Amino acid sequence: MTERPRRPILHLKLNPDRPPPIPAVPAAPVKAAPARPAKPAAPALTGEVWKCKPCGAAIALADMPLEGDVRCPGCNARLGKAEDFRADPPRTERLRARLYKR
Ligand SMILES: [Zn+2]
Repeated sequence: MTERPRRPILHLKLNPDRPPPIPAVPAAPVKAAPARPAKPAAPALTGEVWKCKPCGAAIALADMPLEGDVRCPGCNARLGKAEDFRADPPRTERLRARLYKR
């Protein structure tokens, strides 16, 4: 009496009827972390910056009006004419501000 070896039945998954199992993705926890680091509230002064002679407040040339009087944001002093600030070179003798940095 001979025992024939059993052939395993191979199931070929050439055309699986079932969709592939969806991996369980845990819901991402909502993080309430602030995106930007806390910085001291300093105005972003770029380009040419002037300083008010009476009070020392800084004012960027970009924040000045294009024409007319330029007033200090700190003490409201009239610093001069916008045309004088924007002249090349600036007519500093007519301004109540000094060039802080370029
Ligand atoms: Zn001022």
